[in-house]
Amino acid sequence: MSKQSVTVIGLGPMGQAMVGAFLAAGHRVTVWNRTASKADELVAKGAVLAPTVADALAANELIVLSLTDYEAMYTILEPAAASLSGKVIANLSSDTPDKARAAAEWAAGHGARHLTGGVQCPPSGIGQEGSITFYSGPKEAVDAHAETLKVLTDIDFRGEDAGLAALYYQIQMDMFWTAMLSWLHALAVADANGITAEEFLPYAQSTMSSLPNFMAFYAGRIDKGEHPGDVDKLAMGVASVEHIVHTAENAGIDPSLPAAVLDVFKRGMTAGHAGDSFTSLIEVFKKSAS
Ligand code: NDP
Repeated sequence: MSKQSVTVIGLGPMGQAMVGAFLAAGHRVTVWNRTASKADELVAKGAVLAPTVADALAANELIVLSLTDYEAMYTILEPAAASLSGKVIANLSSDTPDKARAAAEWAAGHGARHLTGGVQCPPSGIGQEGSITFYSGPKEAVDAHAETLKVLTDIDFRGEDAGLAALYYQIQMDMFWTAMLSWLHALAVADANGITAEEFLPYAQSTMSSLPNFMAFYAGRIDKGEHPGDVDKLAMGVASVEHIVHTAENAGIDPSLPAAVLDVFKRGMTAGHAGDSFTSLIEVFKKSAS
């Protein structure tokens, strides 16, 4: 059986990698990009450059979007919306859950089905084993195109709510950026003390790889709303974070990142959690949002 042909709109680093993976797997690929020259190398490898967005949509049922954000999708697709009927839009651009839900409604209004995708790898991970993408939206549409979408990454279907894939993507990124900035901050303090990133690397890796065990220990307690101070106490944590802030200041390094952490710890103390675990700080976050 011949492989499903597919349209890819958006040829940034991610879209380029996706088209490359489809071509390598023997799929016919139609592409469109605002800056048409970005298609040159892909066309040389066999991709077909559609002259217009409407042509790109008309070429295939499955339309993969890889754009900076959802606003770019409306900019591109709105003028060609008459060609959307019957299409499945696998939107692998990242944005907020609310934007994903609105896009699903917008697509349905034009007779198309919208799949939200949250890619969990860099462009180099596309087409590689072990990479995954969160998907949400109509399951039958994911299932119908699973074989083709799996050329890019494995599928982790999160549910029918269009926002779910975007939500999982964003909460992963919430952790990723905060963790990576904590590393950069530690490196700035290390550098001020003559320690290079390479020298610190095994210790940084050791700290990061200890985190899964802490998460596994605390997750069940957090779900139950229990924060007993049997293993750690917030009051102890405050002293620890104060030491980190002072170490940064003494090294002449901007302490704003650990100072923000200290502020949350102190708010937990004020809220009466001194004898509880640091996990009680989740209650501080929840109250801040309401
Ligand atoms: P880029 O921001 O480089 O891709 C931008 C694409 O969107 C280009 O095709 C660009 O067109 C197009 N675009 C942006 N704004 C507009 C607009 N107003 N009108 C028309 N076209 C527009 O992103 P990547 O390729 O790196 O990533 C694509 C998506 O994948 C993003 O949502 C990103 O968050 C997500 N992602 C990226 C990862 C990565 O490591 N790169 C990892 C995981 C997810 P033009 O070429 O003309 O500028």
